[in-house]
Amino acid sequence: MYMGKISQVYGNSAKRILREDALMVKEMTNGYSKDNFQDMFGHVKKRFTLIDMNGNILYDSERYTKEDKMANHKNREEIKEAFQTGEGFAIRKSKTLRQNMAYYGLLYENNDGEKNVIRTSINYDEEIKDLRTLFITQIFFFIILNIAIYICYKNYLKRDLFKKIESMREALESGDEIKTIYAKGDVWLVKFWKVVRDWQKENLKNIRQLNEEKTRLKRVISAVDLSIILVDEESRIIMKNNSLGYLYTNGKMETLYEKIKYIEILDIITNAIKNKEDKKEEVFISSLKKYLLVTIKYLEFKKEFLITVKDITRSRELGEVQKNFIANVSHELKTPLTNIKGYLIALEDAPQELQKNFLDIIKSNVEKLENITMDFLNISKIESSKIINLAPVPFERVKDEVEKILSEKVKKSNALVEYKINLRDENNYMNIDFEKTVTILKNLIENGIIYNDKTPHIIVDIKEEDDRYRISVKDNGIGFPEQEKENIFERFYRIDKARTSNVAGTGLGLSIVKESIELCGGKIEVYSSENEGSEFVFTLLK
Ligand code: ADP
Repeated sequence: MYMGKISQVYGNSAKRILREDALMVKEMTNGYSKDNFQDMFGHVKKRFTLIDMNGNILYDSERYTKEDKMANHKNREEIKEAFQTGEGFAIRKSKTLRQNMAYYGLLYENNDGEKNVIRTSINYDEEIKDLRTLFITQIFFFIILNIAIYICYKNYLKRDLFKKIESMREALESGDEIKTIYAKGDVWLVKFWKVVRDWQKENLKNIRQLNEEKTRLKRVISAVDLSIILVDEESRIIMKNNSLGYLYTNGKMETLYEKIKYIEILDIITNAIKNKEDKKEEVFISSLKKYLLVTIKYLEFKKEFLITVKDITRSRELGEVQKNFIANVSHELKTPLTNIKGYLIALEDAPQELQKNFLDIIKSNVEKLENITMDFLNISKIESSKIINLAPVPFERVKDEVEKILSEKVKKSNALVEYKINLRDENNYMNIDFEKTVTILKNLIENGIIYNDKTPHIIVDIKEEDDRYRISVKDNGIGFPEQEKENIFERFYRIDKARTSNVAGTGLGLSIVKESIELCGGKIEVYSSENEGSEFVFTLLK
């Protein structure tokens, strides 16, 4: 099939060549007699034959072969066709040459009006051989050319591509954000690079986010007031924060046994790890005087244990304080109530001259009950609401309120309460919590009057700073020794009762003062020495 097509191509090519030759001969012989032909074509290498209507050869550019001379050409295929259609073409084997020849016949009319055929011929086998050789040479030439181009291009491409990919790899490995577009000009490579770059950007963003989250988590873990340890099933420490450092030995220890100092904690943990169970247990470390809450959680999917240790000493102590508070309250209430009851019974049979005395004692005990109730109310107010209500108030209002509450005591003791006010506002407005400020001043001034063996002289000095007020309450009273400085602010604490005639005290006043000041963002300090008077200085944030 393929070969058939090729020979058709050769045939067509031979026909075209022969036709062109015939047309040329036709043009050249036009107007010339055949007698001139030998002169005209004798030296031409191409062969042509002139044949008349009867098939006789009129002229042949080559010497006649025997066969040709003798033969009548009328029935030759190309001649017959030429006389019928104007042109004819045939390929056949020449008996003499034993080779395939291609013949082309062209009908034409000479000057005398005779119709003849110009026949051109060609050695078809040779022609095909030539063409085939040319064709094969060309094919080989192109194959070799293609291979050469392919090898060169491939090598060049490979080297170039390798270089570009290498630089991409380096850029990616550097972990920096990639901005440069490599391989400009290679559209597909640029596209590929853009994908890689976007992917890298996304990756870097994710890594950054993960790092941030990791740092945040680390910060949270290290900031919590809770010791956190993660261990594997062999008690090897995987992770640990730095809280409650006093429970652990220094340095890098591999296992819990080396790290934890206290056998009491180790016991709980070892048991939980052995039984692969969750546990929550309170333990008291006597050498530390601390209560600890140890929690162990078994993370089954990771085969790890999450251990937390919390110092609960303070909440345990607060529980104690609460219990003590109730005991104290009961005790404080019991004493005046017993007194009142006793003196009331005694009053019934008491002689006239003692009755007034008994009534005074009853009155002072009722007063004490009243004071206790007031202090309890104040304490529970502080406990239940930590809210501060800052608002502008003229100091006069605070002063009036305090004077109103203390009027009886001031009158009775003949006390002088002096105010030195240095405020920036011309109407002496202060930005304070009115109720708390009144309670603080009332308690401090009242103490200055009570704990006094002279005519009390109290000086209240108020100064304003940028963000706070600094207030001092100074008395000329009995003072107290240095070592009592911290104690006096504790709930129910009273310095030796015998030193004053104040039976109505509860030991709650200064604790209320301190807690109120701290709620307002301030601090209190005290300067005192025995028989020298006392000065309480405190600040209130605006
Ligand atoms: P209370 O006055 O009810 O006893 P406080 O808490 O107000 O309770 O005071 C605690 C103790 O501190 C008092 O018992 C007293 O001995 C001492 N104290 C307080 N204020 C003064 C003061 N201005 N001068 C001397 N001692 C004081």
